[in-house]
Amino acid sequence: MAYNAFLERMGEVNDLLNADSILNWDARTMMPPGGADTRAKQLATLSVVTREHLVADETRRLLERAEAEVANLPSDSVERTMCAHVREAIDYHLRIPAALVHKRAEVGSIGQHIWAKARAESDFASFAPVLEQTIALNQEMAECIGYEEHPYDALMYRFEPGETVRSLQPLFATLREGLLPLVKAIGEKEAPRVDFLERPFPVEAQLDFALKMARKLGYDTDRGRLDLTVHPFEVSFTRNDVRITTRANDEWMPKCLFGTLHETGHALYEQFCDPAYTRTPLATDLVGLYAVGGVSFGAHESQSRLFENHVGRSREFWEQNYGELQATFPEQLAGIDTETFWRAVNRVEPGLIRVESDELTYDFHIMLRVEIEAALVDGSLSVPDLPEAWNAKVKEYLGLDVPNDRLGVLQDVHWSSGQVGTFCNYTIGNVMAGQLFASATEDDRIREGLATADYLPLREWMTEHVHRHGRRYTRNQLLEKATGGSLDPTFYIEHLTRKYSDIYGI
Ligand code: ZN
Repeated sequence: MAYNAFLERMGEVNDLLNADSILNWDARTMMPPGGADTRAKQLATLSVVTREHLVADETRRLLERAEAEVANLPSDSVERTMCAHVREAIDYHLRIPAALVHKRAEVGSIGQHIWAKARAESDFASFAPVLEQTIALNQEMAECIGYEEHPYDALMYRFEPGETVRSLQPLFATLREGLLPLVKAIGEKEAPRVDFLERPFPVEAQLDFALKMARKLGYDTDRGRLDLTVHPFEVSFTRNDVRITTRANDEWMPKCLFGTLHETGHALYEQFCDPAYTRTPLATDLVGLYAVGGVSFGAHESQSRLFENHVGRSREFWEQNYGELQATFPEQLAGIDTETFWRAVNRVEPGLIRVESDELTYDFHIMLRVEIEAALVDGSLSVPDLPEAWNAKVKEYLGLDVPNDRLGVLQDVHWSSGQVGTFCNYTIGNVMAGQLFASATEDDRIREGLATADYLPLREWMTEHVHRHGRRYTRNQLLEKATGGSLDPTFYIEHLTRKYSDIYGI
């Protein structure tokens, strides 16, 4: 069977990508700093080997024979979808010369060091030359990949296929229209107290509680584990080994807990992918060369946002789980009732730093980045003018003055590693989460479950409509099948308006 031989070949690609993921997990979780240089070489070698294995003559021969064998099946059959994914990915990679891939990786690895120093010293000028190089390389990439309207579309394709500058404009406009008045109204109200969240909470106990909540939401620790890192992340080495990390300190308790719930949402997507898709192109991102089951970065983010925000920051969640939290931290939470705690973990405060921003103002950080990236890539904004453009957008969207570039344009790691085009997925994820949650909670069993700390019905709905499909459908097909509609910010705006009107009495 030619098709089986083809699948085995793709299994090998998936194995290589999982090996890459394990080296990455180790580097971010366990590796002593001294290992960084040799690890970077190992990862670079592995990524060359993987790409070569994917585009090799042998793979293409196996693909052609498999395509011929399944040609009579329906075009949307699993078999033909697998073949189509691989065909598309090989075409994509062959359009980009290996030398360009290599150059971009090289600039990325140098860039991270330069950026880290520039950020520490808040010195944009020292980062500007490498950023100019990064933008030029990405422009070259866009030309190789091809696009219809805007070079930025070609760069987003790897992360959010189908999304374009043109498709994002109306989405962003609707979000701004819907959310800016709410941010403004909240700014005039008294903020909920949060002082008790800054009390010292022992890190071990925080981790224990966070993991307990993750398991309650459905995270299977026989196929997963939780570790501490500087930046939280989720990574899977097939659905049978899906790891998450969180960060914790003893000064701001929500970090550990909500970081864990966020990564739990990502992990559920991977753990509940159809087992039949393991090691296949339906659980492998062959364009981005990443062993992941989720269909797009935005779809993935929809699950993390849904479990973190729609579930974890809901009043029902704390009506059910606050008692346990208070029992874990009786001194820190003495005299704090459920309502006070729930309001505190939902406080809105426009801030300068994206990763520290609240649920309501987060999208403004994303919009300004996407707009700036698109302008850098099409040449309408030059790198020397970047800090000024950044600061103007922060003023416009968040009403804040940026005191220095460390708190402004130098804050994100993305550009230093050579990546451009990733940011939109966070907002796509928020919007999708709103839609999926609205559809799921039309079901009485799910609503009752949320009110009684039984999260199984919700998890099962998400598995049925999202997780199990892996990369079987496009993001929009998935959304249509699950909710009956295409990407639509209405539900997300409604969710935010309802919640924050309640908290702030608007
Ligand atoms: Zn995430």
